[in-house]
Amino acid sequence: MGLVILVAIFLLPFGGDSSTLYGTVSPMIKNLGALQSGGNTATLAYDYTWIIAFILLVIAGVVGIFPLGTGVLGMVGMAMITISPFLIYPNGPYTLSTGAGFYITWVASVVSLVASRWQGKKETPPPVSVTIIQTQNTGTQAAQPTKNTKCPNCGTDNPGETAKCSRCGKDLPVAT
Ligand SMILES: [Zn+2]
Repeated sequence: MGLVILVAIFLLPFGGDSSTLYGTVSPMIKNLGALQSGGNTATLAYDYTWIIAFILLVIAGVVGIFPLGTGVLGMVGMAMITISPFLIYPNGPYTLSTGAGFYITWVASVVSLVASRWQGKKETPPPVSVTIIQTQNTGTQAAQPTKNTKCPNCGTDNPGETAKCSRCGKDLPVAT
């Protein structure tokens, strides 16, 4: 899924104008200096949001072998891109235009997160149950032979710690 995200943000049309996410963000990075001196805070905030989201998505793609990391970073990055136009420009002029890369990155992020949860659930239970069975077996096997001493007089089973029979009172042989 990490590879899918990298392909989607670098190669696939991300916005409605068929530019990739990388193609949209790289001029933003170049213009940051000019924007900061220009004092257009709305555009600056919008550009920063997209640049940070882009960096998160690149990291999400690179850590593709860890589905949880890809899923969380991918969803945070995509949420920033999806929400930012409405937060920063509630009345325009920017509107969110989306292409194939936009949806593929969303889907890849969600699939990664779901896959990581499914993997975690599947792998955890077996070791726990195996440990329980093993401790139960060793406990009963070790306990049975030494615990009881049969009374030579009346045949009652007595716990190994007692010296006299609990039923008839006769001295019990010392268990070896
Ligand atoms: Zn007895």
